[in-house]
Amino acid sequence: MELNSMYEDELRDFFVNKGEKAFRGSQLFTFFYDKKRYDIENSNLSDKAISIIKDEEINKVEIFKTFDSKLDETKKFLFKLKDENLIEGVLMDYKHGYSQCISTQVGCRMGCDFCASTKSGLVRNLSAAEMLGQVYEIEKALNIKVSNFILMGSGEPLDNFSEVIRFIKLLHDEKGHNTSYRNITISTCGMVDKIYELADIDIPINLAVSLHQTNDNDRSALMPINRKFNLADLKRALEYYCDKTNNRITFEYTLIKNQNDGKKNIEELYNFAKNMKCHINLIPLNPIDEFDEKRPSKSEIIEFKDKLEKKGFNVTIRRELGRDISASCGQLRRKVEVK
Ligand code: SAH
Repeated sequence: MELNSMYEDELRDFFVNKGEKAFRGSQLFTFFYDKKRYDIENSNLSDKAISIIKDEEINKVEIFKTFDSKLDETKKFLFKLKDENLIEGVLMDYKHGYSQCISTQVGCRMGCDFCASTKSGLVRNLSAAEMLGQVYEIEKALNIKVSNFILMGSGEPLDNFSEVIRFIKLLHDEKGHNTSYRNITISTCGMVDKIYELADIDIPINLAVSLHQTNDNDRSALMPINRKFNLADLKRALEYYCDKTNNRITFEYTLIKNQNDGKKNIEELYNFAKNMKCHINLIPLNPIDEFDEKRPSKSEIIEFKDKLEKKGFNVTIRRELGRDISASCGQLRRKVEVK
């Protein structure tokens, strides 16, 4: 396993098993996760400790390209991984601090019709080190500290469950990045089996669910995951999750003109979510080449929001940041790679 995906106790055990003192593990932990460094030869480890780890794997992520929006403070990054794969990330500068969108996989195998990240399928999972690397490389390059993390870049976080949880725990560790679980959000297309697992491990992060359709027929056509876990399965899992964690759910709802913005959808959405502690975030569709649909007009979007609010829902419309730099959903990597 990569050294810079390990917890402190694992690093301590690692050194003990090699005949070194356990505290070397704690030193290395601080070096990786607090100092954000890779250059072991310049650490305060002993020569013996350095020689023990010199052939072990340390996984580095590099910033390959940066794109600055001219419309707002959003920045987009392409990261290069050690096997030359590219992943993307977005950094948003809000009044309350920086918020970063993290990729969890190279590509994605969920196959949602409107999403650019999935169009070439899944290449591979990212390791915890590669997710942390996205955070640390940006923080070092810009000399900032990011306070909010949303796992909404390319990939389905719950499809890479164990590494994603490892990443989140490392991000939370007070000797590492020291981020509150409340400032971390996982977004899922609805992997029901993993939602139960997430509820059971009891870490109080936020859960967002990409809903996008309100009945099984239409949702299955748009999002293949619904053929495996339908809306009734999803609802049961979310009720379990809310009971267990006392959290509310955020539903993401990408508005697609004449597909999911009708009166019928308001009624169906109401029936699906009326008893749930939830919040609805409307996302105007970002057009991609492979999906020949449009977003509703601004006034239609506002009307949809008003109707949901009249039903008693808490609703927001996602602000569009970095429109000029394709700041969403796998579009950038595809442009660079397909070109
Ligand atoms: N796999 C996870 C997280 C990645 S996608 C998930 O499905 O939630 C992050 C969000 O962007 C999801 O809500 C996704 O449905 C949405 N999204 C993807 N492509 C989009 C597009 N072209 N326009 C608007 N939203 C999109």
